[in-house]
Amino acid sequence: MNKNLVVGAGFSGAVIANLIAAKTDESVLIIDKKEHIAGNCYDYRDKNGIMIHKYGSHIFHTNSEIIWSYLKQFTDFNTYMHKVIAIVDGIEANIPFNFNTLYEVFPVSVAAKLEEKLLERFKYNTKVPVLEFLKQDDEDLKFLANYIYEKVFLHYTTKQWGVKPEDVDGAVTARVPVYLSRDNRYFQDKYQGIPLEGYTRVVEKMLDNKNIKISLSTDYKDIDASGFDRIFYTGSIDEFYNYKFGELPYRSVNFKFEEYNKPYYQSNACVNYPCNYDFTRIHEYKYYLDDKSDKTVIAKEYSEAFVNGKNERYYPIQSDTNTALYNKYYELNNSDNKVHFLGRLGDYKYYNMDQAILRSIELFEKVYHK
Ligand code: FAD
Ligand code: UDP
Repeated sequence: MNKNLVVGAGFSGAVIANLIAAKTDESVLIIDKKEHIAGNCYDYRDKNGIMIHKYGSHIFHTNSEIIWSYLKQFTDFNTYMHKVIAIVDGIEANIPFNFNTLYEVFPVSVAAKLEEKLLERFKYNTKVPVLEFLKQDDEDLKFLANYIYEKVFLHYTTKQWGVKPEDVDGAVTARVPVYLSRDNRYFQDKYQGIPLEGYTRVVEKMLDNKNIKISLSTDYKDIDASGFDRIFYTGSIDEFYNYKFGELPYRSVNFKFEEYNKPYYQSNACVNYPCNYDFTRIHEYKYYLDDKSDKTVIAKEYSEAFVNGKNERYYPIQSDTNTALYNKYYELNNSDNKVHFLGRLGDYKYYNMDQAILRSIELFEKVYHK
């Protein structure tokens, strides 16, 4: 019987471990250097009964039937559809910037004129990345584009990535386009929601199999992996190869938690502060599962550079240089099919949860049914 080692008990590691254990009769040891499972999706109920997302708000969303039905084996979801408010000129404005936002931040006469011009220029219900939207000939639309760039993207992105929007990979700011619609939702996917018992419980159920053993507070570098037939590695590839070619850069995040003696702190689960303060956004957790308590818990999210040994890797920084460095490491993996890299860190890709899950499902198919 084959022995498998899975490094990392986040969604990527948990899904591949679950599939191996459930669909083959092979054994799996899954390790994580953290003292808990679920990686960045880890959540827990605090003393007030509020479900806290330790590493920032996690909202599940996907268009994939495959992923949705896979996850439904482990949990039901509520029908939460995420909306984000940004404070723009002191006004609570809907993000992505859409026709509703137009009327929130401008006087009606100005908004109506811009709306008319927008509808002449763009098809209704289309999404335009802000860097594309800046390319306007019309004076009024140019004014609007510069307004959105300056008030929503410039300062938020500079806080989040340490550089201006034009110096970040275009796909990153395109995640939050200018949306020519009246849809205030952050995601348009068919399926969205929060698992009713939280993400940690989902991962716990995935790993609840007689073929799986879990070892927490266990770093790959401290174990002898020579006896395993296959290794599925969801940590960072540069660390696996001992930083032979130098470090892959990441952004890290610092969450400052605060508890308040009142039922609610803000009007929405997530409020962005593009132009004010040093944090990017404030999360208020009780909104996600509609938890009832006289108290509330928030987290202010501060972005910072990843420094090895000081903080955690959160966001891969997509760029041609970094992809080239990743590929250089990837090519060190010889073809004996023993080590497989996956996940947000192992693939060095800005995966949402559904993309990380799909990657694990596809890798399982590739390894076991090729
Ligand atoms: P991770 O969750 O990072 O798991 C990797 C695990 O490997 C970690 O537990 C780590 O401790 C472990 N590990 C690493 N190296 C070693 C080692 N050497 N030895 C042992 N263990 C090791 N996605 C969404 O779909 N919706 C959202 O709303 C959303 N919000 C997000 C908010 C933030 C702030 C962040 C950072 C991400 C968000 N995501 C969201 C993305 C989501 O977190 C990821 O898609 C998902 O967590 C990827 O899972 P993973 O298993 O690949 O990585
Ligand atoms: N962004 C911004 N202002 C906002 C929201 C997002 O400038 O109010 C940019 C920023 O560069 C951010 C990117 O859009 O990193 C993607 O935003 P998203 O909310 O998807 O980021 P995540 O939730 O993954 O941190």
